[in-house]
Amino acid sequence: MSGKSAISTENVAQRYGDVMMNTFGAPQLVLVRGEGSFVWDDTGKQYLDLLGGIAVNVLGHAHPKVNKAIAAQAGQLGHVSNFFATPPQVALAEKLAKMATPNDPGRPAKVFLANSGTEANEAAFKLARMTGRKRIIAMEGSFHGRTMGALAATFNPPYREPFEPLPGVVEFVPFGNVARLNRLVDDTVAAVVLEPIQGENGVIEAPAGYLAEARKITAKAGALLWLDEIQSGMGRTGTWLASEPSGVTADIVTFAKGLGNGFPIGACVATGPAADLFTPGTHGSTFGGNPLAAAAALATLGVIEAEGLLAHAAEMGAYISRRIEDLHMFEVARTRGRGLMLGIELRTPVAKALAQACLEAGVIVNAPRPDVVRILPALNITTEELDGFIDLLPKLFKAIR
Ligand SMILES: *Cc1c(COP(=O)(O)O)cnc(C)c1O
Repeated sequence: MSGKSAISTENVAQRYGDVMMNTFGAPQLVLVRGEGSFVWDDTGKQYLDLLGGIAVNVLGHAHPKVNKAIAAQAGQLGHVSNFFATPPQVALAEKLAKMATPNDPGRPAKVFLANSGTEANEAAFKLARMTGRKRIIAMEGSFHGRTMGALAATFNPPYREPFEPLPGVVEFVPFGNVARLNRLVDDTVAAVVLEPIQGENGVIEAPAGYLAEARKITAKAGALLWLDEIQSGMGRTGTWLASEPSGVTADIVTFAKGLGNGFPIGACVATGPAADLFTPGTHGSTFGGNPLAAAAALATLGVIEAEGLLAHAAEMGAYISRRIEDLHMFEVARTRGRGLMLGIELRTPVAKALAQACLEAGVIVNAPRPDVVRILPALNITTEELDGFIDLLPKLFKAIR
């Protein structure tokens, strides 16, 4: 099973516990290989991966075009400092600047490249402070990352409270409540931050019209609208941005997860006047915009475009929702979300047990809430692969009853 790797595959799970900090609990599996929508563990068992590294593997595992781009870039120029520019870095920024402004294509936009989602949001937090205003309004149920600034805007109290005091001032409002937002936002607010679809909170979409109202309210107060598209972006919902159909143009859009198909990269894109808030010395990163990461991201975006995966993601999302509904399983209340960012809402809090039963049956999903199973598969997944999961569901529900 060790294949060509010189790295020992003996007793990995036990050695993990001895040497890895206990931030994630015990690992569910030891994985050694992946291809497309499948991964294999150290015993050779195959799994259908419907979690995709938590919305990261948008093209599935070991995509040949991404691998080729990484290898070619590694053979040419792997890293330089940010005292210098590289062609892939600039080409990627040009694409992301366009991607962040679908509803106002002429609007100027500029990019800060980082290495993760939380770093993209950290950049956005600092950018918001560059306005001279201090207050940030965030949403109940939000997740923005684990570094101190991003964490300050993350709602879940058990994540936040051990680390207080966190950078302030962050205030939380109920997600989707226009009146409350309107009451709180005035000309002392630097930014309002929200996820168009809250992923970690269990795939909860902003109510119709909320983004447009948030845009109006922030514009009136001269505050920035900051959209965290780290999980919902990269075409997952059938458009590059989940916020695209709302017609809104944000001042800040943050990306990460699917951007590099697994190569670590994040981006903070600012539009209009916000694009020029940072000046030399105000922010930076040694690895941010690294040519290897930029090449991986460019290849990923290129495949999504060339293979029409936005339309395919929308189609596959509709397919899985319809098929699950057609099974009329008593245990399923409904499906929610958009495209391939999908929550299966259960009538009882058995999501953890169902996820465990899926794993034993060879399917990887997760349970962000006690009554929600979430799937975030590769955008190029096929109906046959999805059927492999859907056809199992009635049997799995019986098994956990
Ligand atoms: C995952 C996620 C983040 C954090 O990204 P990391 O790469 O884990 O730091 C931030 N915001 C949202 C919406 C996310 O889903």
